[in-house]
Amino acid sequence: MRRLSILGSTGSIGTTTLDLVDRFRDRFSIVGLVGGRRVELLAEQVRRFEPAIVATADDEGAEQLRALVPDFRGEIACGAAGLDRVATAEGTDLLISALVGALGLRPTLSALHAGIDVALANKEVLVVAGELVKKAAAQSGAAVHPLDSEHNAIYQALHGHNRAEVKRLILTASGGPFLHTPLRDLEAVSIEQALNHPTWKMGTKITIDSSTLMNKGLEVIEAFWFFDVPPERIDVVVHPQSIVHSMVEYIDGSVIAQLGIPDMAVPISYILGYPERLPLTHLPSLDLVRAGRLEFHAPDTGRFPCLRLAYEALRARGTAPAVLNGANEIAVASFLDGRIGYLDIPRVLESVLTDHARVDDPDLAQLLEADRWSRAAAAEKIGSGIRGSGI
Ligand code: MG
Repeated sequence: MRRLSILGSTGSIGTTTLDLVDRFRDRFSIVGLVGGRRVELLAEQVRRFEPAIVATADDEGAEQLRALVPDFRGEIACGAAGLDRVATAEGTDLLISALVGALGLRPTLSALHAGIDVALANKEVLVVAGELVKKAAAQSGAAVHPLDSEHNAIYQALHGHNRAEVKRLILTASGGPFLHTPLRDLEAVSIEQALNHPTWKMGTKITIDSSTLMNKGLEVIEAFWFFDVPPERIDVVVHPQSIVHSMVEYIDGSVIAQLGIPDMAVPISYILGYPERLPLTHLPSLDLVRAGRLEFHAPDTGRFPCLRLAYEALRARGTAPAVLNGANEIAVASFLDGRIGYLDIPRVLESVLTDHARVDDPDLAQLLEADRWSRAAAAEKIGSGIRGSGI
């Protein structure tokens, strides 16, 4: 029996994970859950999976939850301390780290310090604090497994091979809804258009990031920390069908790819069952004949500057990736609130990165300060009207 705790149980990764737990009750059980604002869904999960501990974002959520599950005998916690308690809950074999944004950083580090293996979907954790995550895992001997479909694909393509023989990693990107939209039309795209992802169903923040290619940029940074491959040997190709989830090229020219239908149950199940594969009989087989054609294009960093900015932040290292990420969270939220236009997102990021005084080899306090600074700097630029400045 593998005992799981989940940070972000009511999000798309969390609900998919719990669906798998439900299908394989003989293999998995739930120790702890952290849910966000969807308290009713969290209450339903508490009734179904009977965890020992549950945490909500704040006091109010905890009160609502208590009222919804009056018979629950476990612990109900909240806030940052609650997140930490779930992440390090006694008896947890594997923590599913699936919060959105930098919020998941502290509890994920706490789990690694406590020697608990982590399955990471919360990409900002590695983007902001890759070095600290690696150190914490190395010190305690805990493993960090990738849940993101691309990194999971690379993980699968590396399995059983010699890491020293890797020539490069090739991350695929769907290209999002604006793959063929000319630059002059990008300025005026609406929130609804940006949220209309062609292949994956995901949360709003990651869907916007997919459309700007920032999601791919964050994944390049993540790949660097996961697999120890330098930025110049991590390539991105646009693959609109989202069937090839990523690839590894070896020194002899062999390219090993992982293919499958675009359903997060596949990468999640690979980590839950690792090193065994789980029989996902509820999913259809990949029908390559029906797919017909698989296309690959070079990414256009002229129309999607976020990808270029991510490579630049990765090469700069230090606090630069944390600043990129913090400013991006503010810019995306402002776009979703209708406060800035679509192309203002990269304008804000470029401007904040230019103003940033980078700190090398930062500790956690310096990373959190860089995160705080970048959010304030982005908010200030948005408040003072960033529109139309360059790019
Ligand atoms: Mg991904």
